[in-house]
Amino acid sequence: MAVERTLSIIKPDAVAKNVIGQIISRFEDAGLSVVGARMMQLTREQAEGFYAVHKERPFFGELVGFMISGPVFVQVLEGEDAIAKNRDLMGATNPKEAEPGTIRADFAESIDANAAHGSDSAENARTEIDFFFKPDELTSR
Ligand code: UDP
Repeated sequence: MAVERTLSIIKPDAVAKNVIGQIISRFEDAGLSVVGARMMQLTREQAEGFYAVHKERPFFGELVGFMISGPVFVQVLEGEDAIAKNRDLMGATNPKEAEPGTIRADFAESIDANAAHGSDSAENARTEIDFFFKPDELTSR
């Protein structure tokens, strides 16, 4: 296993529920460290750009609308196997199918308001981290 970095977003539904701290604790308890973070209100252009791979999907408009419906917490997590670990901690995209004890099972209501985003590959992690952070905004552990 290698030390990796991954992009995590705590989405507007979870920010509104005041569970940012509880979600970060799950990452830290699993051995991941926050090496960069920012609260943001995404613009429509930023949300469309971030989710550009989904622009032909039927849910794209709703996804963008949801992501700009309130502030998000954007962070870079670092640690052994960080990309897969973050995805495991989040659980399945649809919270109704997510394993009990995962972030989405515990904090999310629906597939379109599902509490968290996590990069799904090393290549996407690099692209997504660069989308939000300049190199000098990230620290190392
Ligand atoms: N999404 C949605 N409806 C769907 C599928 C996906 O609203 O039928 C949203 C959901 O918020 C998801 C995001 O689009 O987190 C990106 O979808 P992806 O399949 O990449 O899931 P993820 O990697 O976030 O689990």
